[in-house]
Order: sequence, then C-alpha cells, then structure tokens
Amino acid sequence: MTSQRTQDRLVDALARQGVGDGRVLSALREVPRHLFVDEALASRAYENTPLPIGEGQTISQPWVVARMTELLLEAGDPQRVLEIGTGSGYQAAVLARLVPQVYTVERLGSLMCKARERLRRAQLTNIRIRHGDGFEGWPAHAPYDGILVTAAPEALPEALLEQLGDGGRLVAPVGGAGYQELTVVDRDGVHLRQRRVAGVSFVPMRQGCA
Ligand code: SAH
Repeated sequence: MTSQRTQDRLVDALARQGVGDGRVLSALREVPRHLFVDEALASRAYENTPLPIGEGQTISQPWVVARMTELLLEAGDPQRVLEIGTGSGYQAAVLARLVPQVYTVERLGSLMCKARERLRRAQLTNIRIRHGDGFEGWPAHAPYDGILVTAAPEALPEALLEQLGDGGRLVAPVGGAGYQELTVVDRDGVHLRQRRVAGVSFVPMRQGCA
C-alpha cells in the first residue's frame, strides 16, 4: 500500500480536485509521505486525510499541502521560504523540492528532533530546522520571499508580516479552533493585500516552546 502506484493515484485525485500546478504535483509524486508517519499508519499515508504524528498534532491533508504550496509559488519564484510548524517535516520536504532554501520552525522539541532525523535521512540539505516559537518567526534569515504557516493563529502574527520581504507572499490558516480561513497576504512595499481563499481546519498555533 505504499507503492508508487498508490501515491500516483492520490496525486491524480488532487489534480482532479483542482490542484493545477504541475511542479507541485510532481513534488507530491516524489516525496514519500509514508516515511513521515509512524509505521503503523504507513498504509494510510496515501489517503487524502490528515494523520496523527504524536503530541496531539497531525500531518496535514495532502490536498491542503498541495493547495498551500501552489498558492505560495503562484506569487513568483520564491528563493527563500519560512515554514511555521514543522510537524512531521513532510511539508518542508515538499517545499525543498521546489524552493532553493527552506527554513522551518517547530515549538515541540520531540517533533522537531524526529523531523530533523527524517529530513537528514532523506538527504534534504536545503532545509534548516529550528526549535522555536513561530510567533517570533526566524529573524536571522529574514526577509523571506514566502512564509507558510501550518498551525492556526487567531490573527496574523505581526513578526511574520514584518519578516515577509517586498513582493513576498504569506499563506496561513487564520481563525479559532476547528475552522479557519486560508488567508493569503501579499506585500507590496509597505502595503499588505489580504484575501481569503478557502475554509480549512488546522491544529492551533500555540505560544512558546515545549
Ligand atoms: N507542516 C506539518 C504539519 C504541522 S501540524 C507537516 O507537514 O507535518 C502543526 C505543527 O505546528 C505542530 O507540530 C505544532 O506543534 C506546531 N506549532 C504550533 N504552534 C507553533 C508555534 N508557535 N511555533 C512553531 N510551531 C508551532
């Protein structure tokens, strides 16, 4: 059940559901999602559903990963992308196929360590991973061409908007527990343009590290 055929079938389904960017579809064909979940769940890795990764967190649904990645790339050709909420490392691995440099921040030390080990084994050398509070972003490497937030804040975090470079795009689920609006913010100089594109459901973004 973890064969390339199963994976291809999922990606074909995502294309039918409106994911149109061929680069994103190729990346999803190439990154083995089953390596980012526990072995007991590997047989379900190519279902279009979120799955538990421990600590009450989830690896996002493939459609959401595809759609957010597509939205991020649509704004241009981002060279440096910051992800908030490393979780399993899967979204970071997809981004690493499409973007020269990926930075990712996770607040839970145990998940961060597991993700780091997986990404090391996958020999993805263009990802830098950090144990930290995503509400603060990662100022040392700012500004970013793209910022992708994969846990839900109730409002757009100020530090992330500040670390978004000119012409850059931020994609984030914004809202309370259970239901959020997938929100796209584009920076044009000092101006920020914001629009909502879909209803989604993410785990909440929480303050501080653990
Ligand atoms: N992108 C992940 C899915 C992440 S689930 C993947 O591909 O698997 C959301 C993750 O965000 C969880 O691991 C959670 O611990 C993390 N998170 C929540 N609040 C955070 C914060 N303030 N800073 C960094 N990570 C945070």
